[in-house]
Amino acid sequence: MTNEKMKSLPSVMFDLDSLVRPNIRAMKPYSSARDEFQGDARVMLDANENSLGSAGPERFNRYPDPHQRAVKAELAQLKDVAPAQIFLGNGSDEAIDLLVRLTCTPGHDSILILPPTYGMYEVAANLNDVRIERLPLTPDFQIAPADVARIVASEAKLVWLCSPNNPTGNLLHEESIEEILRGFRGLVVVDEAYADFAAAPSWTTRLAEFPNLVVLQTFSKAWGLAGLRLGMAFASPEIIGYLNKIKPPYNVSEATQQHALAALHDAPRFEQMRQQLLLGRDWLAERLPAIGIVEAVFPSDANFLLVRFRPDATAVYDYLLEKGIVVRNRTTQPGCAGTLRLTVGTEAENEQLLQALREFTA
Ligand SMILES: *Cc1c(COP(=O)(O)O)cnc(C)c1O
Repeated sequence: MTNEKMKSLPSVMFDLDSLVRPNIRAMKPYSSARDEFQGDARVMLDANENSLGSAGPERFNRYPDPHQRAVKAELAQLKDVAPAQIFLGNGSDEAIDLLVRLTCTPGHDSILILPPTYGMYEVAANLNDVRIERLPLTPDFQIAPADVARIVASEAKLVWLCSPNNPTGNLLHEESIEEILRGFRGLVVVDEAYADFAAAPSWTTRLAEFPNLVVLQTFSKAWGLAGLRLGMAFASPEIIGYLNKIKPPYNVSEATQQHALAALHDAPRFEQMRQQLLLGRDWLAERLPAIGIVEAVFPSDANFLLVRFRPDATAVYDYLLEKGIVVRNRTTQPGCAGTLRLTVGTEAENEQLLQALREFTA
């Protein structure tokens, strides 16, 4: 077979069952009352709920749908995937933790991260006593070709690819991700928390090609629902089946499910906010470079900008705090010396931020 042909083949080495921890493969999941009886009975005395009602202004006396069918039906349409390809969790953070626990035996297995990146991958690994291998991104925050080869050859159970990356804001090159998907034997998790702000199609459009692909998205950013705690994972029905097997049965509350449905029915508001945040990002990115203390504004496909300040970013950070403006100090992150991460706010907030930076310069 020619090299060209081999390159175009999907990852023949991928075997999900051998990636999953043996105890999880063998275990029987909890069977909830709502699993054993579905439907509308007039007398519901199976789940030790309170049939009288609820304290507080609203009725939440019944356990929620453990499979979140209504939300998944809407999401499946929006994202053009099957409901069986969707996992919902208490924020993406729950999916991150479950993916580590699904594949990594504590004290034995390892995961790969590409710093600077989102901190929860490391926290989930540490919590589960899982070794972390770090492959730092290049100075322009891409995966070095030699590291693509290292990832492909690695025995790690899982690699975290954050694209657009937090805190740098850039998309990782499609070709690098594709090469990893084709060659790596573990799960490839593409965290797309910021995908709604990016000028590239989601990796959810490639799920059918790659049995080892997991895509994470969230309601916390473009949907404006960080307080609700709702995260999504998209993957093969087999991977989603395993996540459902190990999740707490009622991990997404009834209030969250109802609210998510209402949000999904309010698509125009989502789109209007998304557009406004993109305009705000461009507005800031255009004006920041003219400020004396700004050394570099990194290109962003997210709702924030990573900015390098001279000579002292932490002095800028402290000055902004004094003015009542809090941003994220990233100066101690690998490859991020001298940087602050600025979230795009309202028009008035963006103006205040720029004004304060001009005052500090003067
Ligand atoms: C904000 C963010 C998330 C979202 O996490 P939630 O638990 O869904 O709020 C996930 N990944 C990255 C990289 C983020 O920046």
